[in-house]
Amino acid sequence: MDGTTGGPLIETARLAWRDGQPVSEQFGDVYFSRENGLEETRYVFLHHNHLPERFLQLSDKDTFVIAETGFGTGLNFLAAWQAFRQYAPASARLHFVSVERYPLGSADLERALALWPELAPLARELAHNYPQPVSGCHRLVIDQARVRLTLYFGDALEAFDSLEFSADAWFLDGFAPACNPGLWQDRLIRQVREHSHRGTTLATFTAVGRVRRALSDVGFRMERVAGFGPKRDMLRGVLEQGSHRSAEPTGQILVVGAGIAGAMVARNLAVRGYQVTVADQGESPGAGASGNPQGALYAKLGVQLNDQVRLALAALLHAQRFYPAETPEQWHPTGLLMMGYSEHERERQQKFLRANTYPRTVLYPVDDQKASDLTGIACPQGGLWFPRSGWLEPARVCQSLLEHPNIRTEFQFRATRLLPCNNRWCLSGEGRQDLVADTVILAAGHLTRQLMPVTGEFRIKAIRGQITGIPSDRLTAAPRAVVTGARYLNPPADGQLVTGATFDLRDNDPLVRTNSHQENLEGLDSMLPGLLAPRIKPTDDITGRVSFRCTTHDYQPIVGPLVNGEGNTLGGAWLFTGLGSKGLMWAPLMAEYLADLITGEPLALPHSLTRRVHPARCLAAARTSESPA
Ligand code: SAM
Repeated sequence: MDGTTGGPLIETARLAWRDGQPVSEQFGDVYFSRENGLEETRYVFLHHNHLPERFLQLSDKDTFVIAETGFGTGLNFLAAWQAFRQYAPASARLHFVSVERYPLGSADLERALALWPELAPLARELAHNYPQPVSGCHRLVIDQARVRLTLYFGDALEAFDSLEFSADAWFLDGFAPACNPGLWQDRLIRQVREHSHRGTTLATFTAVGRVRRALSDVGFRMERVAGFGPKRDMLRGVLEQGSHRSAEPTGQILVVGAGIAGAMVARNLAVRGYQVTVADQGESPGAGASGNPQGALYAKLGVQLNDQVRLALAALLHAQRFYPAETPEQWHPTGLLMMGYSEHERERQQKFLRANTYPRTVLYPVDDQKASDLTGIACPQGGLWFPRSGWLEPARVCQSLLEHPNIRTEFQFRATRLLPCNNRWCLSGEGRQDLVADTVILAAGHLTRQLMPVTGEFRIKAIRGQITGIPSDRLTAAPRAVVTGARYLNPPADGQLVTGATFDLRDNDPLVRTNSHQENLEGLDSMLPGLLAPRIKPTDDITGRVSFRCTTHDYQPIVGPLVNGEGNTLGGAWLFTGLGSKGLMWAPLMAEYLADLITGEPLALPHSLTRRVHPARCLAAARTSESPA
């Protein structure tokens, strides 16, 4: 049993409760000491990694990275977080990387952590953000972004092969080697070394000779010290080889584009304590493709659980945590129906359901009756129901993300070119003084291509999309949830319902057109017959908006370093575009990942997924332009 089912649902921990304490049935071992688990954690992991002293010594914007084998109940994490709050300066941040093959269900997690009343506020915040039982990597941003938790649901060995981070301290937990030989392999020990740097410390409750020798063989100076309570001894170690961890200098950061991508990454970096300037040609945020009055939050998940699906699912789940917490006023958690609107789509959904098990909190199938109950309108077909999805007001989301004291905006800045100058980047704009920065992020949708200082083919295209706004009284009923299918339809806002959008390849007409309205209305009518008032015409009091989505050849976003045709990165320049028609879904996780890359923190995505978004795949035969200043 590898802990996974068909699809992303992961097998959770089976617990027995003995004297009110959790015991793992899968491993036949206790999660923590029966006497005093919290004191043991403090002694074994915090004290022997010298964490209180090391937290005290952190300086401004430092990030301290702890890695752990076996998240279990999260007790170690909470204890470390509590100590960090107590000892670290306010501007320092904690990053905790952990893995768990059998995640506790939420109810079990809460029950286990209720044993520690002094941790109650932290336990509540963890429980509130705790991921759904989906295999793979989850990134939680908590304690007002002072603490990040990268939590990989799956096997530790697989996780440490695919995650990118360098730990300052290790908590080698994960049950005793005798109960869990699958974990304590030499391969794990090599991985611990690979994710460490000179000065990295480790602590473990086990004192088994084989483990001590293996750790010392890879370069840790190991010591056997007194164990906690009745336990005779335990191990601690420090790596005395290799290079020190170096922080990435970011200098001044400039983001080009104030749409959902630019606003999201600017906000993310600002919250991490960096000063960011955002330039955009529009007069206000979200002037381009992110300026529609409504946008649905959803992902189309393919039948085969491949990396593409894993990436979209990770982004969707992250977005469903992000918006309620960060932009609650623009977030409408109505639920979303992906309707089986055609024979083809119904078949696809059936195949999808046969091949995959998803947690019901992510999605579940509904018939036409249930779909009608949930959406409040007569649905001729059922489909897939996403209970935690909904819709957003994209332009206002962009606006609210940019409202942060560390963000300065430059609107009506029509960028014309970007060039390297004296190891920095210089952005010229029509009739404006140049903007100079050490780090530049191009997040200007399809306009990004014009600014990239490289030549050659770059595989993005602008796809025209027109939406149609229908006055509420022109519909026989209004949905109370988002419905997607041949078209999407959102619940009413400001007296109208938005539907769309057209998908017009090789069409650069910026004007609203009657035939596009016609197409949207027909699409809507075919999906939800009888909803539109009879004889509604595109010329009636119907409104529209045209924008251009930036789409890639493989429909995956572009997030990462700017590279030239030889595959060399152009230091300090980054791309964040290609979000297609799913910008609201992609942006929170991709911004998190990009900010990790820029600041040199543990990455929010495993290698298998970073490959999918790397800019190099779009820049097949390009060359650096000739004449940098
Ligand atoms: N640190 C935990 C806490 O604070 O509650 C206690 C950890 S408990 C002793 C060990 C955990 O390691 C269990 O939750 C178990 O499921 C997990 N584990 C064991 N083998 C694993 C493996 N190969 N990969 C990932 N997790 C594993």
